Amino acid sequence: MQDASYAATLAFNTADLDWHHAIIAEFGAHHGVDARYDGRARGETGSLLREAHDRREAARLAWERVSPAACDLVALPDLTCRKCDRRNPGVYLAPVVMDGSGTCICMECADARGWLDKSGNLQPGVTV
Ligand SMILES: [Zn+2]
Repeated sequence: MQDASYAATLAFNTADLDWHHAIIAEFGAHHGVDARYDGRARGETGSLLREAHDRREAARLAWERVSPAACDLVALPDLTCRKCDRRNPGVYLAPVVMDGSGTCICMECADARGWLDKSGNLQPGVTV
């Protein structure tokens, strides 16, 4: 059992490093850390970043099966858009997370409401 746990840990670490490299490639070293924790690093459907994220998530789930306590620390929150109920949008604003799940505003909804400027940042004075 110890061996299975060790192998799953190594597999997760490898997948996590691959994902980390994909994040750096997408967002640059400076913004990579923010992107990893605010959810942008899930990537859009079909992107290389999403593939790396999904492999990391699969490795995390495999690790969780053999060593549940160890991998609680690395789970990403499950988010649902407060406006359109879309699950886990690749890019979103204003996440509110409790116990591993929560809500956010997806960029499509923010954009549709005219909350974003040309660069995709929140307009001054808009709070979500
Ligand atoms: Zn939405």
